Amino acid sequence: MDLYEYQARDTFEKYGVPVLKGITATTPDEAKAAAAELGSSVVVVKAQVKTGGRGKAGGVKIARSPEEAAQRAEEILGLDIKGHVVKTVMVTEGADIAEEYYFSLLLDRANRTYLAMCSKEGGMDIEQLAVERPEALARIPVDPLVGIDQAKADEIVAAAGFDEADRPEIARVLQLLGKLYQAEDATLVEVNPLVKTRDGSILALDGKVSLDENADFRHPEHEALVDNSATDPLENAAKEKGLNYVKLDGSVGIIGNGAGLVMSTLDVVAYAGEQFPGQPRPANFLDIGGGASAEVMANGLEIILSDAQVKSVFVNVFGGITACDEVANGIVQAFELLASRDEHVDRPLVVRLDGNNAEEGRAILTDANLAGLEQVDTMDGAAQRAAELAQDAAAGSARGN
Ligand code: GDP
Ligand code: MN
Repeated sequence: MDLYEYQARDTFEKYGVPVLKGITATTPDEAKAAAAELGSSVVVVKAQVKTGGRGKAGGVKIARSPEEAAQRAEEILGLDIKGHVVKTVMVTEGADIAEEYYFSLLLDRANRTYLAMCSKEGGMDIEQLAVERPEALARIPVDPLVGIDQAKADEIVAAAGFDEADRPEIARVLQLLGKLYQAEDATLVEVNPLVKTRDGSILALDGKVSLDENADFRHPEHEALVDNSATDPLENAAKEKGLNYVKLDGSVGIIGNGAGLVMSTLDVVAYAGEQFPGQPRPANFLDIGGGASAEVMANGLEIILSDAQVKSVFVNVFGGITACDEVANGIVQAFELLASRDEHVDRPLVVRLDGNNAEEGRAILTDANLAGLEQVDTMDGAAQRAAELAQDAAAGSARGN
């Protein structure tokens, strides 16, 4: 889960990382009140969206009075920054910046360590710096069992080439950020810019924090950081049912067992769709996991069918520990369960069963003779048929029938 900047700021504060005061606002009037409350001669109004590059997109603006803060907020609220509409701004004290630095700590999966990256040249274009002058960005592996201790912090600030006089304070801040990273189970902590002000203090001016959702059980307090307003309503509904669902923008609903199988199903359907004029594409990712019970199957179908863009559904199952006959029974019961909930499978379903007890599973579905369900025995063939059905439905509705 990615945090908003204001949440990252609050988290920094909790760990003693030096930050400026900040107050969120959702209207120009609130922004004005926030600026008045901060009482500093210069404030900065900052778009709160979960994407970078806000400064360049006009989402970070300086104001010199509460009235001006209201005007800047008026301009920024509602702005579309890379597809993220701004609903909240943070009004912060203005910093008198002398230098902008960069620091991040992240999970380096390939090397099974954490990786600290640090540069004297921070600010807005760190990606460009990393490509054009990689030597200006120090990359230091951090042992996850140790974290950023004094020695590691000293190593990082030396590698980044900070002036001797600045090193102790920056090293102190990096240790606090390292502590936050480990204690909160983060996968990313980024500060860009980390600044030195004209009076010589070090401040984290913009923060990006990603938390590891796999560690949520250790952090009941993280629940309060979740903001559902920005996620898709179908994804929220799926999450409540414990389903591993991601909404995509195509018309072929996908259900499979196992993340790898579902991923390749998406590819196969996208490929099959290319030969049709409407180029039907996958409508979602949905992995119902190993033990595909009737209830999970019914919940999955319910979520997929509540997406109006879906024109056909492809159920792709490879029987393993949960054999195909059990999955077939699950599908039959799912139809009954949906009917009992007054939901109906009103779009065509293509089912491919393969693997353990495939024959038995296919026979169960044949005998059940479910309306709108057809079986195709190969993955490519089934993908082809599901894409074709989605194409036909789209063409049909385009003609008005
Ligand atoms: P981002 O573009 O989304 O990364 O947003 P940032 O919060 O990093 O702000 C972008 C830039 O705005 C920073 O690199 C600074 O140059 C500038 N900026 C942000 N806050 C202040 C401030 O308090 N004072 C001054 N002078 N500039 C600021
Ligand atoms: Mn930034």
